[in-house]
Amino acid sequence: MFTAYDNDASDDPQYVETTTPKGKTNFYSLTMEDLKTFLKGMGKEQFRAQQIFKWVYDERVTDVEKMSNLSKAFRAELPDIMSFDLPPVLKHLKSVDGTQKFLFDVKDGNSVEAVLIPSDDRLTLCLSSEVGCNMACKFCFTGKQKLKRRLTTEEIVGQFMQVHDALEEGQRISNIVFMGMGEPLDNPEAVFKSIEVLQNPFGMMLSRRKITVSTSGLVPQIKLVANARVRLAVSLNGSNDEIRSRVMPINKKYPIKELLDACREFCDQTKDKITFEYVLLKGITDQLEHAREV
Ligand code: SF4
Repeated sequence: MFTAYDNDASDDPQYVETTTPKGKTNFYSLTMEDLKTFLKGMGKEQFRAQQIFKWVYDERVTDVEKMSNLSKAFRAELPDIMSFDLPPVLKHLKSVDGTQKFLFDVKDGNSVEAVLIPSDDRLTLCLSSEVGCNMACKFCFTGKQKLKRRLTTEEIVGQFMQVHDALEEGQRISNIVFMGMGEPLDNPEAVFKSIEVLQNPFGMMLSRRKITVSTSGLVPQIKLVANARVRLAVSLNGSNDEIRSRVMPINKKYPIKELLDACREFCDQTKDKITFEYVLLKGITDQLEHAREV
């Protein structure tokens, strides 16, 4: 059970800032290469990108004036064209078992969740990739709402950074999994870009081995997970096509055989194992015969 920890922040000025002001580029939307290109456009040296990444991700300094190894003129120029806004935290709930839920404002009355899950040797953050979802899995609340929009890179990286900033001293997010609201492979551009940002050695230095993309079974996009050299989880939830199509309508488009063929290709390319997730639904997927069939 979750209890309110730091909720209803609507009267706290820290949480009511609007998002990126018009005309400014949000820093968290940029990979290292993007930032180099951005700085090149300003006539600045490429190594400045590494310096700014280190300030923001390593030192958590977003006040440009405090970035002491940038020239005074550059420090005066940057705030006019770049913002460091994060999606505001609307609610922060903490469970007795240490699990924490964060609800983020992603504009236009929409919100998404991230969940921080502690275990013996890890601190795993489950990130959202979309507002709503078109996959319509029968066991999922998000699936009851149609896709409203895909999150941007800065909204995905922003979830991570807000949770990172709320950690207690000595804590560190060790793993991330794209298993929150939305189908991550339905938003591949922002999801894989955010992975590039978070694994950068001048960024949060997350190992690719500690990043998992969980899919309902968007077969053509599975190769993108292999190309990104991150881990794959597949939501199976049905021991044959008849049951799986009932529980997960995406199975009508990409039946189990096609899904497993794509999984085998993934394993051949990456030499990695895949995690298969299976939800027990009373009378639908929880019988002994289903276990045998799986
Ligand atoms: S893909 Fe994920 S978010 Fe979308 S409906 Fe299925 S379980 Fe829910």
